Amino acid sequence: MKVIEIAASVLKGNDRIADENRIVFRDNHVFVVNVMGSPGAGKTSLLLKTIEALGQGFNIGVIEGDIATSHDAELIQAAGVPVVQINTQGACHLDAMMIKTALTHFDLAKIDLLFIENVGNLVCPAGFRLGESARIVVSSVPEGDDKPKKYPGMFRVVDAVLLNKIDLLDVFGFNTNTFKEDVLPAGFSSFSSKPEIFEVSCKTEKGLSVWLDWLKKHGGVVCR
Ligand code: MG
Ligand code: ZN
Repeated sequence: MKVIEIAASVLKGNDRIADENRIVFRDNHVFVVNVMGSPGAGKTSLLLKTIEALGQGFNIGVIEGDIATSHDAELIQAAGVPVVQINTQGACHLDAMMIKTALTHFDLAKIDLLFIENVGNLVCPAGFRLGESARIVVSSVPEGDDKPKKYPGMFRVVDAVLLNKIDLLDVFGFNTNTFKEDVLPAGFSSFSSKPEIFEVSCKTEKGLSVWLDWLKKHGGVVCR
């Protein structure tokens, strides 16, 4: 019983700080995307491709969440955008307080688009609001077409699903229809009743333009 009470109060406290973050983002006209997904789904690769494509038109910043190491943050930094690494010391998700702390290292007035790469995990990142404008999940073909069915909690709280590594569809016998049918109407999405599904390959760049258009459409409203 106590454990449940503690968990509930932790989440409540988290939501309060998430609301504070949201106000800071709004006041600074920053469009913030919480990028979630399993380890190896291609979250960092997607960010690198997105920075490459939009870095001229938008001032981009990145917060990297990892259990350990700064490996991904170094890749992002090499792409020439400001990046703050959060090492969670073992915690398997980011929370709003970690984001609030990380924000002190950015000049938000100079950021249009802020990407938060969450810890690789399809479970608890879905339960922690960070104050973001949009949530996405990157799911990749090698993980299998059953991920939306097995992790409904994640696929129900996102605004967009990026199915990555579609260059491997045939190799893995991946059924795209099965995958899509299990991405159910959310009701949580800020932008639509059902998450948008983008089929992409960060390797071949197929499908990325549709994702970039979505980002420009929703982000462009906020960043002025
Ligand atoms: Mg990564
Ligand atoms: Zn966790």
